[in-house]
Amino acid sequence: MKQVRITAPYTFQVEDAPIPEISGDQALVKINALGICGSDFQIYHGKHQFMTFPVILGHEAAVTVEKVGKDVTGFAPGDTAVVEPQVFCGECVPCTQGRFNVCEKLKVLGVHLDGFSCEYAAVEARYLHKTPKTMNDALAALTEPFAVGVAAARRSPRLSGALAAVVGAGTIGNFTAQAAKALGAKKTLIADINQAKLDYALQCGVDEAVNVRNRSLKDAILEHFGSGRADIIIDCAANPFTFKSILEAARPNSDIVITGNFKEPVTFNLPIIQRQEIALLGHMMYVREDFQTAIKLLSQGGINTEKTVTKTFDFADYQEAYRYGDANPDSIMKLMIRF
Ligand SMILES: [Zn+2]
Ligand SMILES: [Zn+2]
Repeated sequence: MKQVRITAPYTFQVEDAPIPEISGDQALVKINALGICGSDFQIYHGKHQFMTFPVILGHEAAVTVEKVGKDVTGFAPGDTAVVEPQVFCGECVPCTQGRFNVCEKLKVLGVHLDGFSCEYAAVEARYLHKTPKTMNDALAALTEPFAVGVAAARRSPRLSGALAAVVGAGTIGNFTAQAAKALGAKKTLIADINQAKLDYALQCGVDEAVNVRNRSLKDAILEHFGSGRADIIIDCAANPFTFKSILEAARPNSDIVITGNFKEPVTFNLPIIQRQEIALLGHMMYVREDFQTAIKLLSQGGINTEKTVTKTFDFADYQEAYRYGDANPDSIMKLMIRF
């Protein structure tokens, strides 16, 4: 089979490899579709803080089960599935509390360990989630990023009936706003400086989309949510300047959820957090229930993903996808590889 490894920033190596052998608790899966994530681009650019080269990228995989190990139950050849790419220890305190997403030894397939830029892979069956046949490969491959949105929306205990603002209208921001609505927010607002992404968010059913190129986030929130402002602001932009505008816009007694990957430490006005009882909530990936909710919501058809995949590339043109992404950063939502 073919596989593609990234050996240094901007450097991919196409390899021939044997189809992997599986152990008793693993399944051999054939990759059908693989989404390219913002974090994959961070690695491609050599800007990801928590990984080392070389590695096989790819953590947004839709697969078909080809073969199962002798100890695997619940999966059979022919089943379609998605991979939850977190490898956790199961023993640290966060793991025993069910927060595998912040396991102290967490490794992510496709970031710290080899992922799915390959035709076949051996995966522990516990990391697979079955997908209904009604989900096509491209939709199934959106499960992982949509699960991030589900988890981001659920991170604040105020979600039910909330006025929720999401900053950043890329794939994760869009999915977070749609998930917030689907999971009980009363009204959603999304902010960005990219008008095309804002227009798409409106088309996806987000209630308000505001361009903050020429106005403050606080003014926009006041206009659309009224003097009570937002109960929750979810930061999917991960930009120090934007984070400052979120702190200015936040209401006393409200939640700020940090979802985006900041590339470096940020200096900010900490006393505001104390004086206004703002809860700053970190958020990392998802847990199993979020993945299951993501599959359910996506397969029921209530989430708009019509234009989420900007362009699809054949696995043979893998490197071209990264070049295309770099050449068109403002006009792409998600790029997808098909096998
Ligand atoms: Zn991702
Ligand atoms: Zn752990």
